[in-house]
Order: sequence, then C-alpha cells, then structure tokens
Amino acid sequence: MNAEIIAIGSELLTPWRQDTNSLYITEKLNLLGVSVAFKTIVGDRQKHLVEAIRNAVRRTDILVIMGGLGPTEDDLTRESVAEALKIQLKRNPDLIAELYTRFAARRQTITRNNEKQADTLEGAIVLENARGTAPGQMLDTVYGEHRKLIFLLPGPPSELKPMFDEQCMPLLRETLPVRHIATRVLKAAMIGESAADARIAPIYQQFKDVETTILAHLGDIQLNLICGKSIPEAAQARVDELAGRIEEELEELVYSSQGETLEQIVLYYLEMRGATLSVAESCTGGLIAQRLTSISGSSRSFMGGAVVYSNQLKTQFAGVPEDLIERHGAVSREVAVALAEGIRAQCGTTHGVGVTGIAGPGGGSEEKPVGLVYFAVSDAEGTEVLEKRFNGDRNRIRQYASQQALDLVRR
Ligand code: ATP
Ligand code: MG
Repeated sequence: MNAEIIAIGSELLTPWRQDTNSLYITEKLNLLGVSVAFKTIVGDRQKHLVEAIRNAVRRTDILVIMGGLGPTEDDLTRESVAEALKIQLKRNPDLIAELYTRFAARRQTITRNNEKQADTLEGAIVLENARGTAPGQMLDTVYGEHRKLIFLLPGPPSELKPMFDEQCMPLLRETLPVRHIATRVLKAAMIGESAADARIAPIYQQFKDVETTILAHLGDIQLNLICGKSIPEAAQARVDELAGRIEEELEELVYSSQGETLEQIVLYYLEMRGATLSVAESCTGGLIAQRLTSISGSSRSFMGGAVVYSNQLKTQFAGVPEDLIERHGAVSREVAVALAEGIRAQCGTTHGVGVTGIAGPGGGSEEKPVGLVYFAVSDAEGTEVLEKRFNGDRNRIRQYASQQALDLVRR
C-alpha cells in the first residue's frame, strides 16, 4: 500500500518556510505499514495543482493533500481536486451554518469568501477542524478501477496534526487491511555509509518484505528495519532475523541493536563493569565530556576530566612529561598514551581517555597533516592507542574524533 503527499502553498517554495507537515504524516503512515512513494510541493496555481493531483492519483492508493483550504483567493485546493477528478463541488448548508455560528461566537462578521470553506466534494466525508475554520475532507473513491483514499487537510500544523491523529488515522485503520508493524534500529560507529551498504546490501536484499533504510551522520550509521504483516509475531521474527544477520556481518562495528546512542552504550558498558571514566581532551575541546554528560545518570560512571589544549596544561592537569611533548610533539601516539594514563591517575578512575590531534584548518604539516588524531584508552589491563586520519573541516574532524573516542571505550 502506497501513499503520496502534496503540500500546497507558494510560501513552501521559498527559503523561508519548510514543509514539515509531510514529515509528520509520513511518520504516522509508516506506523500503519504504508510507505510514502512521492512528495510534491506545489505553489498556489490551479493549473499546477490540477496537474500534480492528476499525476498523484493515478499512481497512489492514498493521497494526502494539505494546505490551501482557507478562505482566500490563493486557497485553491478544493477547486483543483474537483477539476482533476471531475467531481462536483457542493456548498454544504450544515457547514455554512457552522461557519456563521463560529463567527458569531467570536463576534466577527463573516465575509462572503469564507463561505467557500463550506464547499464539499461530492461523496466526501467532512473532517471537523476544531482549531480553525477550514474543515478537511476525505474522499473514498474509485479512479481507473482502483480504490483511492484522498484526504484534504488544512495547512497550519496546529490544525493538521490533531485532525490527522484523531480522524484520519482511525479512518485509515478501518479501511486498510490489518497490518502489524515491527521495527528494529541497529547502529554502527566508524564505518562509512557506502562501506556499510556494500557489506549488508547482499543480506537485506534477500529480505524483500523488510524495508531497510540507512542514515549516516558523522561516523554514525543508523539502520532502520521495518516490516508489516498480518501476524505481529511474523513481522517481528523477520526484522529480528535480518537484524541478526546484519550483526553477524558487521560484528563489533554494531554498538546498538535497540536504537540506543553511542553515549548510552558507553555508559552501560562502564556501569556493567563497575568502572569509572575520566577524559583528557585536546582537539575535541570537551566534546566527549559534553556528549557523555548529555545523558542523565552519567555521573554514575563518568567522573569528568580536563580540556588540555595547551602543552602547559597537558603537563599540569594530565601529568604529561614536558620532555615527552618536546621529543614527540603534542600530537603523537606517546602523548595520547600519557594523557590517558595521566588523567586516569589524577582522577582515580578505572578508565582514562586521551585525545590529541590536528583539527585544522591550520597547523598541519607534511608529517602531521590536518585530520591526524591519536586516541588512547587506559585501564588496569594496559593502554590501547589508535591513530586515525579524518577528512573534512574542523567541525567534522572534531565530531569524528569524539565518536572514535567513545567507540574505543566500549570495545
Ligand atoms: P488557512 O485557513 O490558515 O489559510 P490553509 O489550509 O489555507 O489554512 P495554508 O494557507 O496553505 O493553509 O497555510 C497556512 C499556514 O500553515 C502557512 O502559512 C504555513 O505557516 C503553514 N503551513 C502550510 N503548509 C505547511 C506545511 N506543509 N508544513 C508546515 N507548515 C505549513
Ligand atoms: Mg490559506
């Protein structure tokens, strides 16, 4: 079952106003096992609207049209749907009466153009709008021998959202074949989107009944698995099976199989071991601490640390020997190790993390280019150190570095 969304309004084609309604509606439709195949944004011109509606209704089962239901000249949705589908528009006397009552209650005089909000497509069900004057409509019709459900909803999000939840969702639930949706979210760190896809595509392609989408952001990959079936256990079994196969393939790259964030996983990891963590951050400037402390309850295992940007503070707060920095440079394997071991000793934690690197854009050299970052994690068993080269601008390098550091702790 497919859906299409048409967002109407010339303002949505400017840089100043975004179509957010369609995101909301997509999320709700997905919960019913309906995926959105097309979204169109159209300005307030009847010719264009008619064209968009005709194209959409030909290829979709469910069409949600939003905006352009108000009283003004540029509100053309009703007329356009009528023209596109060759359906009569009739002024609904009950709705007219309601409009007059509503205006009277607010001690406002009604202007004639308001009456067009009472125009209803022949055969449509009226959807009440408790928060505005323009009612919505639902048309359950046949087009080209196929059943089509067409919704007309007002543009203001404060009106559209409750109408969709309270009226459209129940109507859709009644109408659609019963489907139970199972979802799983897997997350992996420090693997690129294309590298991840190359490894897992051969697996998820065998699961035609599970929709798999990949979202990538700064060293973090999120895999969304969605399956809809008439039997809930069958849908769950399919997403679980696919999740299991993907985890087998990506192994320890996967840090979460229930959608937790990397920060949460690091904190679970520490708490489960009764461990505590401190950090000495140079190029990440506190990002690691910021990310961990954004989780409530983090104080149970994250103790704190220091932003040691200058060489002097590396020595003063993390006990890095001055001559070590002189010999190897602040951005070096040796200094990362000394930072991790030093901060761990200073803070009396079971684990210590040290990060030092060149975030750029200046400060790079042939030997130590921008994007070079050293990481170390120290615990009772020893100290592990890692060298990485990241591409991109300063912000990206710092974000990747914080991601890598967190990932290293949970390994
Ligand atoms: P009204 O009676 O308010 O005129 P309407 O159905 O005609 O209702 P529009 O005029 O198209 O709706 O839009 C009203 C306001 O709703 C817009 O100014 C905009 O702020 C918001 N809006 C419209 N469409 C969207 C959308 N797709 N996403 C987010 N906001 C929207
Ligand atoms: Mg309007």
